[in-house]
Amino acid sequence: MRVLIADDDLAALLLLKSVLEDWGYEVVTARDGTQAWDLLRRADSPPLAILDWIMPGLDGIDVCRKVRQNGEAPYVYLILLTGKVRTQDVVQGMESGADDYVSKPFEEQELKVRLRAGRRIVELHEALRTQATRDPLTGTWNRRTILEILHRESARAERDGTSLGVIMADIDHFKRLNDTLGHAAGDAALCEASRRMGTALRPYDALGRYGGEEFLIVLPGCDRAEVLEAAERVRNAVAEVSVAPPSGMPPVTISLGAATNEGASLDADTLIRTADEALYRAKRAGRNRVMATLDSKIQISSDS
Ligand code: GH3
Ligand code: MG
Ligand code: MG
Repeated sequence: MRVLIADDDLAALLLLKSVLEDWGYEVVTARDGTQAWDLLRRADSPPLAILDWIMPGLDGIDVCRKVRQNGEAPYVYLILLTGKVRTQDVVQGMESGADDYVSKPFEEQELKVRLRAGRRIVELHEALRTQATRDPLTGTWNRRTILEILHRESARAERDGTSLGVIMADIDHFKRLNDTLGHAAGDAALCEASRRMGTALRPYDALGRYGGEEFLIVLPGCDRAEVLEAAERVRNAVAEVSVAPPSGMPPVTISLGAATNEGASLDADTLIRTADEALYRAKRAGRNRVMATLDSKIQISSDS
């Protein structure tokens, strides 16, 4: 597990670093509070941090407050490490948002068990977060989360005047696969199909399970041509090698409906509806294909 340590005293920082590395932690260092906050505010922040209290710029208390005000990010477990050990200091430290408090100079055995306690909290947080945001079968975003992502990206695109692509994908004749091979094989095919869809996407695209065998894909920055290209890549990733191996079964394929907010004029709900209409048309046109919307707004802006 990664741990951020912050101390303006270089000797103390290096000592702590070597102790933590001996215990198997991956250590990220910061030389003051400002640098620590820069690292902790990021989405990929280490989940554990040991902060010196007195540092130039932001001190340990300031960093604790800022981390706790930053509600969006994953939980960071904060340990203050300091020579300030009076009761009122402990109270002030914990009130600023620290989870724990270790006096300096630290006793190795004590720091070790306190870190272990922190790790348990972090692991619990991560498990809860996964449960709340992921679809348990496929591991893709669940319906609520992919809709949150869509609304967030749609607002961002509107603010910045950028494009946003949306794809609705649905497995073809999935009922037939279930009826022929059984529900467990259906589940396995669903997992494999969603895994393949993921491999055809960029790291900043989001894939979520919208319904039973229906997936919603959000593609920030994609205009009409790019979203169609992405949809075709996704379609091909599923169709190119059969997902369901037994003989006599046709390969698993998906149909896709694509839409974009061209000109940032379509809101999230309209984007979904538009992609859904396109999906319906892809099904009617024979399945295993990509269709874009016929919506006049989108047609006009893509022609201009
Ligand atoms: P179409 O090509 O028109 O989409 O046909 P379809 O058979 O895929 O569509 P339909 O909506 O008729 O059936 C969807 C099926 O997906 C029915 C349902 O039992 C199955 N399904 C939904 N969720 C799951 C799941 O989690 N696991 C399995 N194995 N099957 C599921
Ligand atoms: Mg289907
Ligand atoms: Mg369906």
